[in-house]
Amino acid sequence: MARLLVVEDDATIGAALHTSLRSHGHTITWARTALSALKEAADTDLDLVLLDLGLPDLDGVEVCRRLRQAQPGAVIVILTARADEMDVVVGLEAGADDYLTKPVRLTELHARIRAHLRRNAGAPDQMPAVPVGDLVVDRASRRVTVNGHELTLRAKEFDLLARLAAEPEKAVSRETLMSDVWDENWFGSTKTLDVHVAAVRRKLAEVGDAGAVPQIVTLRGHGYRLDVPSAPPSAR
Ligand code: CA
Repeated sequence: MARLLVVEDDATIGAALHTSLRSHGHTITWARTALSALKEAADTDLDLVLLDLGLPDLDGVEVCRRLRQAQPGAVIVILTARADEMDVVVGLEAGADDYLTKPVRLTELHARIRAHLRRNAGAPDQMPAVPVGDLVVDRASRRVTVNGHELTLRAKEFDLLARLAAEPEKAVSRETLMSDVWDENWFGSTKTLDVHVAAVRRKLAEVGDAGAVPQIVTLRGHGYRLDVPSAPPSAR
């Protein structure tokens, strides 16, 4: 079905994850150290990585960063025993797509994995590329350009921007974004949304000189909106 890498040094948790995921038909490799995980990621094309942040040989966030480099197309879900929100934010900034807090409920784990794999494999949209200002979001090729300059976006960053760009100048609630971009049954913190918005904003700002770049506006207590700048005619 899908090729998964479980990175977990705890024998009990690792065995439980391995058994449970395999029973759902996935091909599982279980790495007990960061170095063996990185070796696996260098050798194998992975669909999804479950990454425990507390590993014996390397810092989990650093492992996340290297896994993301080695496997740009894989979904990375971090597992953290620490309830500390900072760990989650740093992990998401290091390239993770999602996180689960230990103890992990297996029903929740399977629901999340199913949602991630479905989205990642999703049939390419037949929707035409719609320009928003000088921003063009092409869902078929999953490319985003600003006046011809291509943005390098991670999977969820693309999905988030595409969702906002589908309705420019319209308020989109946090709940709608979480359910459309992540999972219809989301019941965790929505911190992951803010981290992804921040990353997309940073990448849009990097091409800010290229043309009329839309802005993601924060709507306090509601959600976000993609505003289209009105460039002066002389600048066009
Ligand atoms: Ca651990």
